[in-house]
Amino acid sequence: MKRLIPLLLAVLLLLAAGSALAADPYAAARQHMVDTQIQARGIGDPLVLAAMRTVPRHEFVAPKWQAQAYQDHPLPIGQGQTISQPFIVAYMSQVLQVRPGLKVLEIGTGSGYQAAVLAVMGAQVHTVEIVPELAENAAATLKRLGYKGVQVKLADGHFGWPSAAPFDRIMVTAGAKKIPPALLEQLAPGGRMVIPVGSGSLGEELTLVSKDQQGRISRQTLLPVRFVPLVGGNKPGQK
Ligand code: SAH
Repeated sequence: MKRLIPLLLAVLLLLAAGSALAADPYAAARQHMVDTQIQARGIGDPLVLAAMRTVPRHEFVAPKWQAQAYQDHPLPIGQGQTISQPFIVAYMSQVLQVRPGLKVLEIGTGSGYQAAVLAVMGAQVHTVEIVPELAENAAATLKRLGYKGVQVKLADGHFGWPSAAPFDRIMVTAGAKKIPPALLEQLAPGGRMVIPVGSGSLGEELTLVSKDQQGRISRQTLLPVRFVPLVGGNKPGQK
């Protein structure tokens, strides 16, 4: 009998591992993605690494793209939009220095994947999307997967989310011609914002904006990137 117990335990462990794999056939691909695309390229924030190892990226894309979900490139998410390359998601999350309990505003919900990563890092996430189908889809995906720390709103992100402001962190995941003034206003003292800024045809510069305790703004450009455009920007009632 004594001999049987370790054997039984081993069988149970194997069964548990088997069912975990069956529940998530992409678990190994996801770990490989983090090892080779993210950690190997210098991302060291343990919260970012843990979140990227956890969030099932394939659940945020259409079935026909799932097999590519952990590859080193952006993916279509419908409505002409894309989910960023995994490295860019990790890089922006690290630059923002997200910590548990911080209030984070994301502009450009898209699939909801980046919002889920921020939520797993412990942030209270407010995310704004301008395309109704994408906002609805992302809210449904986040709910289905059980991400409770995310609120999705359908609106033009140029105006932020005034009723929930100020935000400790702001992440814009669409390319802006210039930094929307409302986002600067809604950034808390000591806050950080990461935003791709540029003319469009030439791509953008990923820019880190910091606000000190006195409310002074400073900017630092980080790296050249290419995002889908941040559209809208007209005041309600204005064409
Ligand atoms: N973060 C997303 C990917 C974003 S792609 C993800 O993890 O999947 C950029 C998104 O920004 C698109 O969904 C696009 O519809 C949205 N967008 C563009 N302009 C916007 C605006 N003014 N306000 C809010 N969302 C906007």
